[in-house]
Amino acid sequence: MKIKRRKQAKHILSAYRNFFGFREPYQILVDGTFCKMSVQYNVPIKDNLGKYLQSDFQCLTTRCVLNELEMLGESVYAAKMVAQRFQTYSCSHRKKPVSAQSCLKLLIGNENSKKFVIATQDFELTKFANQIPGVPVLYFHQNNLILDKMSEASLKRVNDISQGKAEPTPAMQNSIQTLKMEANLISGSPIKKKRKRPGGPNSLSCKKSKKLKGAHQQGSAIHEPGDRRRKKRSRRSKQSTTS
Ligand SMILES: [Zn+2]
Repeated sequence: MKIKRRKQAKHILSAYRNFFGFREPYQILVDGTFCKMSVQYNVPIKDNLGKYLQSDFQCLTTRCVLNELEMLGESVYAAKMVAQRFQTYSCSHRKKPVSAQSCLKLLIGNENSKKFVIATQDFELTKFANQIPGVPVLYFHQNNLILDKMSEASLKRVNDISQGKAEPTPAMQNSIQTLKMEANLISGSPIKKKRKRPGGPNSLSCKKSKKLKGAHQQGSAIHEPGDRRRKKRSRRSKQSTTS
């Protein structure tokens, strides 16, 4: 069951990579509700995410999330401790903190241009994230971490782009370009596979013929490496005979 879940997560992540330009390390924005759940089921977030996603990632939280947990007091003290261990992403609400939900909604924006993965149990936030194409959502189902399937909005965007109804985003264009380069579909591709010639002459015999030519054409700089090689070899052969 665990292997099946990991495979599903890998499959979903690769779709986000190919269609929305997500790249490792994934930026996972964690809110207080997610931290609270991890405490409730005693599931360390980083360790379990590492095993589940099998990718490079970074857990982030925001000052607004920490501020809200602080205001909620003792009941979420453990969750606050969990959130404090993550790097704080500097949202633009330093002077005027907003609710955690509003903060994360604003960070996602209309396009999720920073490519955040949202880790939350908040129903409203999940609903919002699902309306924006290209927002992966992580949540706990009891003590299991789940990367949610692509939302309808994301699937629609993928479908529109593949049918030419929508312009691919710059991130997606890069992704398409990379995929084409890998498939050698673009001229001047940096990836060139060496062609093997099974029927060609033996490379060792080629070297030998060059050496012979060099021996006949004296004074040419082109043949100097061959001469050196010959000297080294003769030295080696002398050593082997003396030892
Ligand atoms: Zn904020």
